[in-house]
Amino acid sequence: QPVVAVVGRPNVGKSTLVNRIIGRRQAVVEDTPGVTRDRVPYDAQWNGRSFTVVDTGGWEPDAKDRAAAIAAQAETAVLTADVVIFVVDAMVGSTDVDEAAVRMLRRSAKPVILVANKTDNSAIELEATSLWSLGLGEPHPVSALHGRGSGELLDAILDALPEAPKIVENRPRGPRRVALVGRPNVGKSSLLNRFSGEERAVVDSVAGTTVDPVDSLVEIGGETWQLVDTAGLRKRVGKASGTEYYASLRTAGAIEAAEVAVVLLDSSEPISEQDQRILTMVVEAGRALVIAFNKWDLVDADRRYYLDKEIDRELRRIPWAIRLNLSAQTGRAVDKLAPALRKALASWETRVPTAQLNQWLTALVQATPHPVRGGRAPKILFATQAGVSPPRFVLFTTAPLDAGYQRFVERKLREEFGFEGSPVEISVRPRK
Ligand code: GDP
Repeated sequence: QPVVAVVGRPNVGKSTLVNRIIGRRQAVVEDTPGVTRDRVPYDAQWNGRSFTVVDTGGWEPDAKDRAAAIAAQAETAVLTADVVIFVVDAMVGSTDVDEAAVRMLRRSAKPVILVANKTDNSAIELEATSLWSLGLGEPHPVSALHGRGSGELLDAILDALPEAPKIVENRPRGPRRVALVGRPNVGKSSLLNRFSGEERAVVDSVAGTTVDPVDSLVEIGGETWQLVDTAGLRKRVGKASGTEYYASLRTAGAIEAAEVAVVLLDSSEPISEQDQRILTMVVEAGRALVIAFNKWDLVDADRRYYLDKEIDRELRRIPWAIRLNLSAQTGRAVDKLAPALRKALASWETRVPTAQLNQWLTALVQATPHPVRGGRAPKILFATQAGVSPPRFVLFTTAPLDAGYQRFVERKLREEFGFEGSPVEISVRPRK
């Protein structure tokens, strides 16, 4: 069922709006400075359609840790949402913080509905028209508290919801889109500067695709690539331009807009939670993944020993990611980047013919059948590949599979067909 995420500064009335949308008084906690709300989904209905509303919590620009915690929630919400409701306080108008948030939201490429909340009367409604300047289209004047405008808002939400899951597999022609991401100081700008000498002017339209002005067209390994959202990296405004919240929303947006992500890690430092969060974003967004261990020039035998242990422990869930050891500073192995990107993208777009897939599967289940459970063993009847980018497989079975056996099938699938650098989705459809 489609997901609608509610995003906005603290005290703009997000909880009240969520209460209004779900149509009943639930224990939605108000924005209280010092209180972190969990990302809670609520079920909502309107005109016979059901959807899920996710309240993302507020964020506190000044409180570092809290900001990071809430940012993590909001970015996941935006990544997983079909529609984003961006709430602004109509009495206050748009603030710098709102404008910064809008830039991030636009990168997410999700439909955004702008709500001018606290529009309690027509005088405020007139004021609210100034919110057109945010560039998110028509502001929807709403009073979450009194209910004014909430019917119109619900209509607008239904209009924005996707009809049915549709799979678009014809990618636009033009350069491949790459996100260069990583926590601050891992060397993103340094790596980008390596390619700067070869950089081309960013033009409005390249071979039928539109290049966002914040993207860079860069020549890597004799091929032109579109590095998504590198404006911040170039101007080195990352830290000045705001909170961690924006940094991570920006990262989420870049990953969403890209086909393949290069996650840069600092080899001289332990793999951190923030590194993990970024990796998770890539996996959950279903993008191809290259992990680049930068600052390899700082790695000595001692560090290498611990790094190997960290990799075993921290990256065990993504053994399929392509890994590179490079140095933006010395240029070591920087030429390996383009081949790694090409390989990851090829895996990402692999389509296994159904006959070949089922031949392999038949042999596999014959050699290693599903363990017997309660006197019976579930059987895999056949498999199809439902899509690419990333490859998605459906197994039709007589009964649900054990999680362990499903992991076994995925491991064997990867051994057989590769998929190096790409996530793979396997879903199981037991026969009714
Ligand atoms: P960003 O915040 O990810 O864009 O990181 P920067 O590119 O600004 O790099 C942060 C710091 O790490 C700077 O002092 C760089 O000179 C340094 N740095 C970047 N790459 C390397 C590398 O490969 N080796 C070493 N020793 N230092 C690096």
